[in-house]
Amino acid sequence: MKTEQMDEMLQTYLKDPEKQPWPVAEWAFTRPEEIPFAAAVRAACEANLCGRYGTCWTCPPGVGEWEALRDEYRRFERALVFSTCHPLEDSFDFEGMQEGRLAHDRLDEAILALMAGAADSAADSAEEAGKARITDTADTPSHAPDATNATNATNATGATGATGTTGKARENRAARFVLLGAGGCSLCEKCSYPDVPCRHPDKARRSMEACGIDVVSLSRNLGLRYMNGENTVTYFSVLFYRSAPGTEANLLGCRREKTESFS
Ligand code: SF4
Repeated sequence: MKTEQMDEMLQTYLKDPEKQPWPVAEWAFTRPEEIPFAAAVRAACEANLCGRYGTCWTCPPGVGEWEALRDEYRRFERALVFSTCHPLEDSFDFEGMQEGRLAHDRLDEAILALMAGAADSAADSAEEAGKARITDTADTPSHAPDATNATNATNATGATGATGTTGKARENRAARFVLLGAGGCSLCEKCSYPDVPCRHPDKARRSMEACGIDVVSLSRNLGLRYMNGENTVTYFSVLFYRSAPGTEANLLGCRREKTESFS
């Protein structure tokens, strides 16, 4: 699927609150190189005001070096930034904040499922195309130059070819898109950090701030409201995506060290 088609698919979804588990408040498309990353954001993590520093694979330092993450995300073609807004009883309503965060996470999941569905259907179409090509060339001797070229040409796109690599193509969807959410991962009752690798590298999501994204500047630059008034809390996520898989090995997982991945 081309990036323009992905843009269109996402726009259709964003404009349809009926399909969203929690309504998107605002959104904006941008180029990954326009996303501001800053050392100061990571320094704020190190101050550990949230208490998550050094406790989770998706928070510093386990999440990786912010410069390396910045470079990795800037290799994507597009970025979608979106927010959700949640009512609170008052500014001390921590339960309401947690409920809002869970609702925002459900929206993240829904958008990831949309992207995964599109990637799988592209893989299936590529497989069908590969089968069709085999059928077309079934009477052609296997040593014939045309048959060889057909196989190589299909595989060269990174999609499924005559050798039947649908499973691999589906795995590659992880390299087509990645979502950074709000706050550190809370999937497990107790994170495995730092003793053993992340238990769910395919589900754990890094937070925008943990990766060094300056969400205040980003929202201002894109004309999105960072806050939505008294007794509300606003959460942000960013989805990076591209039309073809990249070469990075570990986009959705967590890193043990900056140079080692275990996805
Ligand atoms: S999925 Fe579990 S092990 Fe992995 S980062 Fe989240 S809490 Fe930690």
